[in-house]
Amino acid sequence: MNPNQLFTSGGTPTIFWVCGICGRGFDSQEGASRCCCCDVCGKPLDKKRDYSRRHRACQLERERKSYEERIVNSEKLESWDGPVFNDVGGSGDERDYYANIDDMIEAIEDKECELPEYVFVCDTVPLQLDFDRIIDDLVTDTFDDSEDQLSGLNEFGNAVKAFNDKNTDVCYWCIDYSRAVKIKTK
Ligand SMILES: [Zn+2]
Ligand SMILES: [Zn+2]
Repeated sequence: MNPNQLFTSGGTPTIFWVCGICGRGFDSQEGASRCCCCDVCGKPLDKKRDYSRRHRACQLERERKSYEERIVNSEKLESWDGPVFNDVGGSGDERDYYANIDDMIEAIEDKECELPEYVFVCDTVPLQLDFDRIIDDLVTDTFDDSEDQLSGLNEFGNAVKAFNDKNTDVCYWCIDYSRAVKIKTK
């Protein structure tokens, strides 16, 4: 903001400009003009050297829009009895996972918030070790054929399988941004 061009001690203009608010240097007038301004709305930031470079409200608005775009572009389901994720409003206050639609409706009504038109469905994913990935991570960036020189892969594979088999019902919910389910009619 308020860019000032720098001059040499002899009075010759240089290509450098500084922001009139924070004093940071730039190699263009445009760069110095944009400094200390929100990169969403272009208006001055509330505080100097705000490295997020956005007003909080502008950031939330941008998140809300991108959430809504994802809803618009998703496949719409008429019904769903699994877990769902809701982030309507983008304020973070209502951002939450629910075991099912009924739980979500109850929670939102308790908060006296408005019900969303759609929410994303979630996949239920068991916590499982990925044997191939563990070995890949181990040998990547080591030396050629290092995997072939490892001993005990079979035993380790069996241990991983035994571990996974014992933990099939330990799951987490993963948002599926490609599918949303209808909650209320507009
Ligand atoms: Zn600045
Ligand atoms: Zn802004």
